[in-house]
Amino acid sequence: MLKLPHNKRERRQYKIGGAVQGVGFRPFVYRLATEHGLSGWVRNDAIGVIIEVEGTKANITEFESLLKTDNPNNAKISLFESENLDVQNDNAFKIIQSRDYETLSVTIPSDLAVCSDCLGEMNDPQNRRYHYPFINCTNCGPRFTIITGLPFDRSQTTMAGFTKCEECCAEYESPSDRRFHAQPIACSDCGPHIELWSKDRTVLSKHNDALMQAVEAVRKGKIVAVKGIGGFHLIADAANEDAVQLLRKRKARSLKPFALMGFSLEEAKRYCDISENEATLLTSQAAPIVLLKKKENTEIASSVAPNNSYLGIMLPYAPLHHLLLQELKTPIVATSGNRSNEPISTDENEALETISEIADLFLVHNRPIQNHSDDSIVRIIAGREMVLRRGRGYAPLPIQLKGKTTKSILAVGSHIKNTAALAVEDQLIVSPHIGDLDTLKACEGHEKLIHTLCDLYGSKPDIVVCDKHPDYRSTQMARAHHNSPFPVQHHYAHALSCLLDNSISTPALAVAWDGTGYGDDGTIWGGEFLNITEEGYERSYYFRPFPLPGGEAALKNLRRVVYGLLYEFGARRSLGFTDQDEALLQDALTKNINCPLTSSVGRLFDAVSALISVCTENTYEGEAAMMLEFAAMKSNTEDHYEFEVSDEIVDWEKMIRQILDDLDNEIIAFDIARKFHNTLSNIIVDIARKSGEKKVLLTGGCFQNKLLLERTIEKLRNAGFEPYWHHNIPPNDGGIAAGQVMVALREQQKERS
Ligand code: ZN
Ligand code: ZN
Ligand code: FE
Repeated sequence: MLKLPHNKRERRQYKIGGAVQGVGFRPFVYRLATEHGLSGWVRNDAIGVIIEVEGTKANITEFESLLKTDNPNNAKISLFESENLDVQNDNAFKIIQSRDYETLSVTIPSDLAVCSDCLGEMNDPQNRRYHYPFINCTNCGPRFTIITGLPFDRSQTTMAGFTKCEECCAEYESPSDRRFHAQPIACSDCGPHIELWSKDRTVLSKHNDALMQAVEAVRKGKIVAVKGIGGFHLIADAANEDAVQLLRKRKARSLKPFALMGFSLEEAKRYCDISENEATLLTSQAAPIVLLKKKENTEIASSVAPNNSYLGIMLPYAPLHHLLLQELKTPIVATSGNRSNEPISTDENEALETISEIADLFLVHNRPIQNHSDDSIVRIIAGREMVLRRGRGYAPLPIQLKGKTTKSILAVGSHIKNTAALAVEDQLIVSPHIGDLDTLKACEGHEKLIHTLCDLYGSKPDIVVCDKHPDYRSTQMARAHHNSPFPVQHHYAHALSCLLDNSISTPALAVAWDGTGYGDDGTIWGGEFLNITEEGYERSYYFRPFPLPGGEAALKNLRRVVYGLLYEFGARRSLGFTDQDEALLQDALTKNINCPLTSSVGRLFDAVSALISVCTENTYEGEAAMMLEFAAMKSNTEDHYEFEVSDEIVDWEKMIRQILDDLDNEIIAFDIARKFHNTLSNIIVDIARKSGEKKVLLTGGCFQNKLLLERTIEKLRNAGFEPYWHHNIPPNDGGIAAGQVMVALREQQKERS
């Protein structure tokens, strides 16, 4: 290196925070610095990455600008500080090994789909990693799912047990190599391998033979459990109706749609309409399941997503998926490898126990999965990404908070679609999707994940936040582990999660609509209009409550919900109950036995869906509401129903009476469904006018409904309001934990001032 006279040299230090570890940032810095003839060093640090460079001013300036603009695709910089230092005259540029740090605020990197360079090598017969299912580099590969500690170094991953061979070592240590410091680096000589197991744990075959045998089994209509990145998938030939139905039968899953893994974007376009935004999401390295409008008459078996206008499609993300699909040349169903309501299996021995009734064969490998991570689910709504389930590729990437928390906060989340969240310094870390806490296994999974996150971040929660609902398993767990957990009203948490997701401040009107949430008055809320201010919230309007005969049991048989709704205003309609059942219902309602009141809009969706015979039974959460949305999409009517607002109550009685009239007049269900959606949008605009707040937050599970959300956004804008909806945090209960943290942060601020 050319040595300049001392006085011409300068030295500059950079502190870079954000998602900069595990994404190839240090090798990138190394290359950039050496290309510019700079000496110095780079190392991982508690805040992210620290760099010191020395050289001419011109070279440093150019280095700095490229550092900002040319950094690796998956790096996300949230902090960039620099200062001048005294010249030290070091004569080379080095990558310095990470040290252990007392407090860690580095980001846990998320798992990245295999990159195109690695794919090219994997399919090149001359390459030493030809058809190697664990190929990766500094720009791709597993991250969070293999991490046992921070910072992200091989010794703190589940790859620690594999000793690198000479060639892998050389690549790992060569700064000019694509795999320079690629922590999960491996090859067929030194890394993990695949095996095909029978149900009784006999190893049937290994390596490529295992792959070919698994492919053969899928072709024959068998179900194969495949160990992937964040857990097991159950796969079956998606074009084989019998195979898909067999999977449904064994998984005891009647109608809930299965996700598909398609071979390529081009192939996915044969089954679905795919916009540019959607294509970008599908091919991103987060590689989520994208909900896409289904085309008619394709070779996809109809039982993949029965009665559904959408298909959830993802592209292969693990090298193993690519190998499978390259051979199969047909799309596969790839659903979570679990029994209903249990977490996804991550270990082959556990999988043999939990899903051996479902799978015929097990395609496994010996790279342990430390942390489970389900596939993420996203949908484009109003031209923007909306994350419906935050898992692999998304979680636990942190969300930047505006201020620093003085105490460490843990939020245990909701009951269904559970996630947990942690606030450490100025970062909010939301766990991957855990699921419904209905089974012991799910609760154990929930606790384990909380411990993992706390351990990784070295956090001992000072404050534990939970839902107000006393029966939520998450609430009970918080009480078991903490003297005085801080309870937060469910819809207030929804509202603050939306506020955070949009980085906006109060005051705002929150429209929080979902299926169920414990109200301050002990009834079930779910059709709430909350005025959100600095101080807290005020329930300004809500939907007229009606009784749910049988309580939660009514959620399945939706004719009971209709019965309760009609009972509320003294209407009667033949709903096909036997005389005896009807007498029982009537008796329960008049005597008010197990007939909790609800203001839930989710239940109103259920009732209308059942009333007009679109869907009379929820076989999975949200089914009837989704079917009503699909029905409404088939109509273009701008008509709507009437409603009344008095004092605090939005009264739906007129609307339901008009729906009954429409039924009598044989108006088609599509039009009724559409008019119902239109009416709901009108209600929001009307209440927004009454409240006078400019900012309107649309939050809660009901706003996963694309038609409702897009229409409401449009109508609010036309009326001069600013609508805000969800983007990175789910509008459903997957966002509750994030909202709970935000409530606790507000309380902290109040105490301080
Ligand atoms: Zn790669
Ligand atoms: Zn090797
Ligand atoms: Fe909710």
